[in-house]
Amino acid sequence: MAKVDAFDVAVRTRRAADMACRAGCSACCGQQLSVCDVEAALLREGIDALDDEARAGLALRLETVGPESACVFLDAAGRCAVYASRPLVCRTQGLPLRYPNGVIPVSAVFLRRETVGSETVGSDVTWCPLNFRDAPPSPPDVIDAARVDTMLALSNRDAGGDAERRTPLAELARAALSDSVAR
Ligand code: SF4
Repeated sequence: MAKVDAFDVAVRTRRAADMACRAGCSACCGQQLSVCDVEAALLREGIDALDDEARAGLALRLETVGPESACVFLDAAGRCAVYASRPLVCRTQGLPLRYPNGVIPVSAVFLRRETVGSETVGSDVTWCPLNFRDAPPSPPDVIDAARVDTMLALSNRDAGGDAERRTPLAELARAALSDSVAR
């Protein structure tokens, strides 16, 4: 997490004029995510640290959450209620992400194939279309998505997490709130 956060800060500093990511923008929070065990543990800490008002807001959203709902942690002000504990995927969403060719659905993302001259050389780069509208990212701005996934899997393994388990955020939030009431 710390390495990705440091990369994010460096890109935001270098490309401040090209990045629209800011508090209150929730363009990448419109879906239900699931997390691995090491991320779930961090999120539980974040939920435990919520004040009463934030906890009540989360409980209310959990009552109405459905398959088409935004993330249950997105509060009424469009902010992430557990920002400091958010999953890794949320930490990378504003960044340009590099994938092998053909992995990203072309229709779903703003995409640039890396080329040398007129030749495609093996990776696709995608980013939030709200960012880099006037000038595309430079190579140092791009993070390797596969490497990030591998780093997360290794962290999960080293923390004793189950490589197979994914926990939906709504389920996790429900359990964490319920546990805190029982304590
Ligand atoms: S955890 Fe936070 S940053 Fe991630 S999708 Fe949910 S509200 Fe957005």
